Amino acid sequence: MNLLSATSLKKTYKDYTAVRGVDFSLTSGKCIALIGPNGAGKTTILRILAGLLKPTEGKIRFSGQPANADLRKFIGYLPQYPVFPSWMTAKEFLIFSGELAYLSKKEAEERAEKLVEEVGIKDAWNKPIGGYSGGMKQRLGIAQAIIHSPKLLLLDEPVSSLDPIGRREVLTLLEKLKEEMTILFSTHILNDAEEVCDDLLLLHKGEIIEAGSILELRKKYQTSVIELEFQDNPEQY
Ligand code: ATP
Repeated sequence: MNLLSATSLKKTYKDYTAVRGVDFSLTSGKCIALIGPNGAGKTTILRILAGLLKPTEGKIRFSGQPANADLRKFIGYLPQYPVFPSWMTAKEFLIFSGELAYLSKKEAEERAEKLVEEVGIKDAWNKPIGGYSGGMKQRLGIAQAIIHSPKLLLLDEPVSSLDPIGRREVLTLLEKLKEEMTILFSTHILNDAEEVCDDLLLLHKGEIIEAGSILELRKKYQTSVIELEFQDNPEQY
C-alpha cells in the first residue's frame, strides 16, 4: 500500500533550486533509503515531508489524502544534527517531548518507559543526557521522534556521525523498528542503507535518478550505486 506520494516536488532557495520537481512514493511497511552525495537535496526533501519547510511547488498525499497540518501526528523526524538539553535526564526529556506531542502526562510517562527499553537506554534514563555517547544520543533522538507512535519515521543521516559501535547499535534498532513503521532513511553510504532498507531513492543534484529495490539496483550496476555516482560526477566530490 502506498503510504505517501510526492508529485512534482520542487524547492528553490532564493535563486538556487535544491529539489527539481521530483516524484516518488513510499510503500507502507518498508524501509526506504534516500541516498545521495552532499548537497543532493536529501535534507530539503525530509524537511518538506516533516512539514518544516514549504515546497516551492508540488503536492504530497498521505494515505491517499492531501497533506495538511494533521500530517505531523503521523510523522516522526530526527534531524541530521539533533540538539539535546544536556542537563535533562532522558526520562525528563522524553516525558516533556511526549507532552509536547499532545500525550497526557500518564501516556507520556508510559510511552517513555517503554521506549527507553526499546532503544536500549533504560540503565541510563535517570542520568543527564550530557554524559551520553553519540550512539546513545542518537537512539534517544529516535525515541523522541517516535514518542507519538508515528506511521512514518524520517531519519536524516542517523549514523553518519557515529563510531562503528554507535552505528551498529542504531542500525540494529532500525531493524527492529521497521517492523512497526515505515522508515525513510537518508544517507550517502549505500552499505548503511542496505543493512536495513529494502528500497532506494537515488538523488543527484535535486533529481531522483533511480528508484526501486536495492537488490535489483545492485544487480543492475554490479557495483555500489554510490561508486557509480563518484565515477559519473568526479567534479562534485
Ligand atoms: P548534506 O548531505 O550535505 O546534508 P543534502 O543532500 O541533505 O546534503 P540539502 O541540505 O537538502 O542536501 O541541500 C541541497 C542544496 O541546497 C545544497 O546545495 C545546499 O547548499 C542548498 N541549501 C540548503 N538549504 C539552503 C538554504 N536555507 N538556503 C540556500 N541554499 C540552501
